Amino acid sequence: MQFIETRGNDGTKPQKVNFSEAILNPSASFGGIFVPETLPSFDSAFLNRHLNSSYKELAFDILKLFEIDIDDDTINQALNRYDTFDDPQNPVPLSKIEDDCFVMELYHGPTRAFKDMALQPFGYILSKEAQKRQQNYLIMAATSGDTGPATLETFKNQDNIKVACLYPDGGTSDVQRLQMVTEEADNEKVIGVVGNFDDTQNMLKELLASEDFKAELEKRDIKLSAANSVNFGRIIFQIMYHIHGYLELVRQNEIEMGEKVYLVVPSGNFGNVLGGYYAKKAGLPVEKLLVASNINNILTDLIENGVYDMASRELIKTESPAMDILKSSNVERVLFDKFGGERTKELMESLNNEGKYTLTSEELALLQEDFVATYSSDSECEEEIAHYAKQGYIFDPHTATCIKSYKQRENKELKSIIYSTAEWTKFSTTVAKALGNQDVSNDTEALEWIANNTRQSVPPMIDGLFSKEIKHPLVVQKEFIKDEMLKFL
Ligand SMILES: *Cc1c(COP(=O)(O)O)cnc(C)c1O
Repeated sequence: MQFIETRGNDGTKPQKVNFSEAILNPSASFGGIFVPETLPSFDSAFLNRHLNSSYKELAFDILKLFEIDIDDDTINQALNRYDTFDDPQNPVPLSKIEDDCFVMELYHGPTRAFKDMALQPFGYILSKEAQKRQQNYLIMAATSGDTGPATLETFKNQDNIKVACLYPDGGTSDVQRLQMVTEEADNEKVIGVVGNFDDTQNMLKELLASEDFKAELEKRDIKLSAANSVNFGRIIFQIMYHIHGYLELVRQNEIEMGEKVYLVVPSGNFGNVLGGYYAKKAGLPVEKLLVASNINNILTDLIENGVYDMASRELIKTESPAMDILKSSNVERVLFDKFGGERTKELMESLNNEGKYTLTSEELALLQEDFVATYSSDSECEEEIAHYAKQGYIFDPHTATCIKSYKQRENKELKSIIYSTAEWTKFSTTVAKALGNQDVSNDTEALEWIANNTRQSVPPMIDGLFSKEIKHPLVVQKEFIKDEMLKFL
């Protein structure tokens, strides 16, 4: 299958590229991104055929239907990364929290956030393709907490790839910071930056745009790639679990094959819910995709009113920091799918120039055919965490944003799947607070208190962090990032 560009073609880039090219060099004409030219079909025949498939078998067949130009051996090795999850037979367990509501736990991988679902196999494939082409790539990430650890984990000690990860000093949870600064691999560098996440991200953008830095990379024969969800190599691995979850409900006799369900997705950069959208479009019986946000509710505004307005907003820090996003990159792929490249280019230019775009009422109606949006405040999320903890189920503050969306679903006859994007252990201080303990001052205390007061246990990869050696103590003012990068390269 070929990949095309969301903002049309500028005449210097190829009209279409194959999968390996789209993932190694993910930036497209006019600042756009790559999308598949067509989608395979996950119709009832496909679903029936996979009723008894394991996660890896299903994933393999989906990748084959996308006709990606990656050999079977590499695909199989990539999917074997799921063997490191808690239960290799079932890397994404489904828990029932209401008669008609199920939580799909996407966090059973090495860094305890849903980013592992895609980054684990994607990192393997990207590294192998770089090696095959005998090219060297640098991946730079600015992280607010979950992308950084998952990116470092997947690329550690992989030949032909270097990773540099910037995080705002003091802007992540203790666990997230330790996951990064204790990572030991010669091909990776972690730098704390004095400032907040926006400063860190802006600094990274500046560096990546600087001619000077580009020349330094060229001198060293290093190309730039990206591992955030603008890379379609991430999205393709975020389609499978939506299908797997549906089949799991059929297997558990909770639904009949063909029955529609709601998918409820805590959203930031829109990569997770985009995977669900592609699954729906390709035939999965989904009534609507429920997009859950925190009070940075720019997606709610878009889906309810057709207005995407960054100009009149300031980013607000919340207890679900992975969803503190105003520029949600993957919305562009939906715009392209519904309105085409010319209109997408126009809308994205308006966003760049005026900080805003507005859909026509016809366009808004098309968007609402698939999406419904809701947002929750921190205190609403804390209430839901406390409520479900009393029933013995603990989720993190991101997952908690889904409950209101679920409660407000239109058709109460249909079942819902909520996506849990992080284990509570990554946000334990917030969870302890929600459970009534205002006094814990750090993650160590919070983890211990929750483990002692609930039936939860802390997994070894989190518990072990506190005794690991710090390998990356560096924290710098932002003007020194470039020097540090050149030293590393
Ligand atoms: C990344 C992340 C999200 C947001 O996912 P998107 O695909 O960017 O919408 C939500 N929750 C957690 C815990 C995350 O790490």
